[in-house]
Amino acid sequence: MKLKKLKGKPASPGITSGKIVILDEDHLNIEDKNIHPENIDGEIEKLLRAIEITRKELIQIRNNVNKTIGIEKGAIFDTHIMFLQDKILLNRIIDKIKNTRKSADFVFYNEMKRIQNILENSKEEYIKDRALDIKDVKRRVIRNIQGISPRKFLFSNENVILVCYELTPSEAISLNKKNILGFVTELGGQTSHVAILARSLELPCVVGIPDLMKKIKPDDTLIIDGNRGEIIINPSSYVNEKYKKYKTDFEKHKIELEKITNLPCVTLDNKKIELSANIEIPEEVQSAISQGAYGIGLFRTEYIYLTKTDLPSEETQFKEYKTIVEKVAPNPVIIRTLDIGGDKFTRSLFHPKEENPFLGWRSIRICLDNPEIFKTQLRAILRASSFGKVKIMFPMISSFEELKKAKWILKQTATKLEKEKIPFDSNIEIGVMIEVPSAVIIAEHLAAEVDFFSIGTNDLVQYTLAADRGNYRVSHLYKFLQPAIIRMIKSIIETGHKKNIWVGMCGEMAGDPISTLLLLGLDIDELSVSPVALTKIKKILLNSRFSEAKLIAEKCLKLKTARQIENYLKKEMLKRFPDLITNYI
Ligand code: PEP
Ligand code: MG
Repeated sequence: MKLKKLKGKPASPGITSGKIVILDEDHLNIEDKNIHPENIDGEIEKLLRAIEITRKELIQIRNNVNKTIGIEKGAIFDTHIMFLQDKILLNRIIDKIKNTRKSADFVFYNEMKRIQNILENSKEEYIKDRALDIKDVKRRVIRNIQGISPRKFLFSNENVILVCYELTPSEAISLNKKNILGFVTELGGQTSHVAILARSLELPCVVGIPDLMKKIKPDDTLIIDGNRGEIIINPSSYVNEKYKKYKTDFEKHKIELEKITNLPCVTLDNKKIELSANIEIPEEVQSAISQGAYGIGLFRTEYIYLTKTDLPSEETQFKEYKTIVEKVAPNPVIIRTLDIGGDKFTRSLFHPKEENPFLGWRSIRICLDNPEIFKTQLRAILRASSFGKVKIMFPMISSFEELKKAKWILKQTATKLEKEKIPFDSNIEIGVMIEVPSAVIIAEHLAAEVDFFSIGTNDLVQYTLAADRGNYRVSHLYKFLQPAIIRMIKSIIETGHKKNIWVGMCGEMAGDPISTLLLLGLDIDELSVSPVALTKIKKILLNSRFSEAKLIAEKCLKLKTARQIENYLKKEMLKRFPDLITNYI
């Protein structure tokens, strides 16, 4: 029989197998109903009442979650509650009910769907995943308008794998997880709530499996391989045995890696590397810390802007930053200022259509052109700095003037806070991302103005090699092991050190095990990687010698092609850490 294997995205590692429970798609019945003019007020009242009931439900869920799971998860519902309190959105819906004379559920549904579509169409996965928050709120309000109760999950006492089209945040959180072996969903990305939940429960999870619901039947059994992001439907006993072995190997390996989680990150010959985590949403902090991150080396702040209908206020931002900073204190959190643009556009304010968005109005350019938006964020970051250790990082700096201007706005903001007697860390470290080739060339001048550099290979590679990071047609050209890139990295680190500042890396290359020995040998001071990569990279660093890594880097610098460099590094890795570059771990 042909092996029925479906591929998705790996969302939480581990391997499990068992029977399944399928949750059907949660259909809302929305009719396009015309309302008699006399009943319009009644319709608006129905909407307001439903919003109020939903608000109370959400407050109750939030309070329960705060008590039982923790305030970090409860904060998801704060976002939902705030969304419901958005006056501009509410007035727009009321006006639409009045002007179109359509029913409250119909208008509310369409307005929410519109926002949901904007988020779903984003290329950024974590923004796409936030569409589910909108959907969650939409369903609750519609049910309360229509007076129907939410879908129920009926589980027996048997252990099962949960299979569904998607799981909203409130469903994911209020689920009885006792008998769940793992999660599999048709929709969703690595930052969806089901993925985050699975990681925090340490249960295997695969998301984003195309046509899953069509291909699976209620009496199927499944294997979830959360490491490779695939599931096997009705495996034969031979395949079952094979996966049992993978599972045993993986678990042994996990135990081994866990032993190093709390060790300081130092090589065998005593070179210290700061190993931190990149996060995109606050819910990721906990798993980053528990997987041994020293601090947060890149906090991407875009989600705050992209998941709100309005520009986030200083207070909203301050609270988000403060929560993270307090959790990580006394260790540092590097907060990167708004890096919107390129492919991260959703809000109408930031929506000019451009021929070349990656070469257009993005990131620091938008902030410098909108000093009020920029200052609001800087105030929030500075205020959060008095609750732990914060560092500010400016993205996409391509010239000296840009850095000076950004620093000048920061200075003005700090002076104003001082006058208002609002506390902040006046010695806050300032850094720039080195992700545009021009910044590499003028690194010497930039270094004189800042406390650190963080190399953003994701952009640096696309701008240097002229290969769009999101275009699959040129993905074979987009390679961080190209000699041009590793020479640039060498030059950035050397220039930084000459000017006595530390140099880190927060692009994806930092979390790629094949590159670790090379980066160590080039004398990098800090690596910031996605939380799942932390232990792998740490194991390599703890068991390597800086002196040997330097020789490896020297050899790489002599090679002429990315293929040669990659093969050489793979060979060196296979000699030292064969378990880390197999497919399963
Ligand atoms: C980078 O460009 O390497 C980076 C870390 O930033 P982003 O991926 O958010 O552009
Ligand atoms: Mg970047």
